[in-house]
Amino acid sequence: MLGLGEIRMLATGRGWRDENKSCSCGLNVTACPVWGDLSPVDGQPKSAWYRRLVSGLSNQYPQATHWVDSSKTIEGLQVWLDLLREGVISDIRIVYLVRDVRSWVVSDEAARCRKDRRKRPLVSSMLEWWRCQIDLQKFLVTNHLEYRLVSYEAMVFQLNEQMRRLMDFAGISGGWDDLQRGLRCGEVHDVFGNRVKSDAERRSSLVYEDAWQYSTPVNLFTLMLWPVWRMNVNLREQANRDSDDAGNQAAV
Ligand SMILES: [Zn+2]
Repeated sequence: MLGLGEIRMLATGRGWRDENKSCSCGLNVTACPVWGDLSPVDGQPKSAWYRRLVSGLSNQYPQATHWVDSSKTIEGLQVWLDLLREGVISDIRIVYLVRDVRSWVVSDEAARCRKDRRKRPLVSSMLEWWRCQIDLQKFLVTNHLEYRLVSYEAMVFQLNEQMRRLMDFAGISGGWDDLQRGLRCGEVHDVFGNRVKSDAERRSSLVYEDAWQYSTPVNLFTLMLWPVWRMNVNLREQANRDSDDAGNQAAV
């Protein structure tokens, strides 16, 4: 497996030039074996950049059967769907990872503060989370796309079970121990993504941030925004149901 982080950001030209970001492999993006030759060309369409990426990765890592793009947006997914329809890639497995809205808004607030981004009211963040779920669900249904819904909380608290489920879905053999070993010593070329990307030890485990549980406004506003709360509960229930179904199938 090859972890590539949030590729869509690199495709837009961010990370190169002025920003000159570093990759989780330890090298500057321009010197990294994956990204070094992929600096976007002015005027070239985004799809052309992805084609260069596919051709470069296929030659460089013929043994890698799975590439992971953590882009998390519809636009980031659409490009791969186009490539799939054109026969440039052979398959896509979509993992819909959703975090409890209360936990997400607190984490988003902390990230904005850390990155010196403009602050926004909690209610706006909650509505943003809600809108994203609606848009994504509409997109998945309209395009008849199969996916696995995974609750972030379940990933933290039932890691082995959830990983087994995802590995089955993605057609990856082996167990969670193998994957964890891979996360420690495997190649990860992540320029945009979680801040622990460069720490092999920390990226191979999950730690739950529970600050939201002690935030009165977060808990109060979520309940007051009824559609947001319903979406939060529905997604969790659906993720649990899917997970139970997978467990029952495995038992049969
Ligand atoms: Zn790299």
